[in-house]
Amino acid sequence: MPSYDFRCKQCGRPFSHFYKSVKDYEAGTGLTCPHCGSTDVARRIRRVAIPRPSRDLSQLSPNEMLSVMNSDNPREVGTMFQQVMESAGGDLGEMGSTVQEATDRLLRGESIDSVEGDLASRDSTPTADD
Ligand SMILES: [Zn+2]
Repeated sequence: MPSYDFRCKQCGRPFSHFYKSVKDYEAGTGLTCPHCGSTDVARRIRRVAIPRPSRDLSQLSPNEMLSVMNSDNPREVGTMFQQVMESAGGDLGEMGSTVQEATDRLLRGESIDSVEGDLASRDSTPTADD
């Protein structure tokens, strides 16, 4: 699990918190400012430098794509998937339906964690023809 950046609303100082598991992250437990002990903290979103105005997210490097995935912006991630699919001519083989479904859900504003979790649990269980 990655560490996340936070800022304490009490003393205004930034700090990082490393989550040991997704459960910790979802529960938001153990999150206190290491400087003053306040629990009144806010997640800091690391802004990613994405080339504009082209906004061609399919041309991002793997690291940039990861940054988009971590941006907590489902629609941005959905847009990225959509552009990746379009650049592949809409043919992603076996991945196609999975990616399409993820894209649709992200563009509807579903949380990245929820979509990611659902798809991951289905990993390596290819479906028959549909
Ligand atoms: Zn503090």
